[in-house]
Amino acid sequence: MSEDPTTGRWAPSPTGDLHLGNLRTALLAWLFARSDGGRLLWRFEDLDGAVRPQFYDSQLRDVAALGLDWDGEPVRQSDRLELYRDAIAELRDRGLIYECFCTRREIAEATAAPHGPSPEGAYPGTCRQLTRGEREQRRSDGRPPALRLRIVAGGAGPHDGGASDRDHVELTVTDRQLGPYCGVVDDFVIQRGDGTPAYNLAVVVDDDAQGVTEIVRGDDLLPSTPRQVYLARLLGIAPPSYAHVPLVLGPQGHRLAKRDGAVTLTDRLALGETPLDVVNLLLHSVGLEPVGSAADLPAVAKRFDPAALPTEPWIHAPQAPVTSGGTTD
Ligand code: GLU
Repeated sequence: MSEDPTTGRWAPSPTGDLHLGNLRTALLAWLFARSDGGRLLWRFEDLDGAVRPQFYDSQLRDVAALGLDWDGEPVRQSDRLELYRDAIAELRDRGLIYECFCTRREIAEATAAPHGPSPEGAYPGTCRQLTRGEREQRRSDGRPPALRLRIVAGGAGPHDGGASDRDHVELTVTDRQLGPYCGVVDDFVIQRGDGTPAYNLAVVVDDDAQGVTEIVRGDDLLPSTPRQVYLARLLGIAPPSYAHVPLVLGPQGHRLAKRDGAVTLTDRLALGETPLDVVNLLLHSVGLEPVGSAADLPAVAKRFDPAALPTEPWIHAPQAPVTSGGTTD
């Protein structure tokens, strides 16, 4: 009666050095996966124009330096474009896609209109009903269209929570850490105007193709989850389980950033800390006891209890380095 082991993944974007918040999420993804003998895959989300090649290797190095490991070779989304194109083609063949010519500014203006029909931040459906002639006109104006998914009530099965308007639905997902979360699924972008598959499309396709059963990631992505679950169901994919974990914030409550001092592994080492000190700092931030060496991490994973994790962000204030005098692994 053995169930398939959990398959988790860690999916950073190689756009910069990983900071303590990213490293903490990597540690948690590792703990969740290893706690029940599961696998952890590494996927680079590198469809973004902000990718800088030196960070593929430096991110792998930093995570490995902490004593965390992963299974198989890391994959890159930029090598998997065919998969995304196939999914987009399927949705197009099913009549579920339309071209959108709106600029960010036009969307912001349309959604700022008082008493508009769409909830805040949701695409107001401007291009949904364009005629063929109107689309041709816009194309000849030189506007490259993005592709949006046409959301329909019941489109993802009976669970999509009843239509509240014609251009969006509300869907409740259950997060392992945070419980039920009800969010809007609007006509979201699945391919950007420059032809790049959008994050929400790529992530759903990849998690399915890689056999991912458990997603552990920062809770800033919780609002995107109903969209991803909707799309997964539309594509006949059983959604994985989700565990959204709190972010690390800077002293003023903003997302951790370079200006918050020694926030990357390289910065911490320059202060005289060891990778073990950094691991222990991260373990402490999630309420776990320090380890004497990275070789003890598998034992920490065995005892790991997700229910005991904090649900509030960890505020990282610049401070003196924490050196434990432990061994460097
Ligand atoms: N690439 C995203 C990040 O670096 C993670 C996306 C995901 O885990 O779904 O924050």
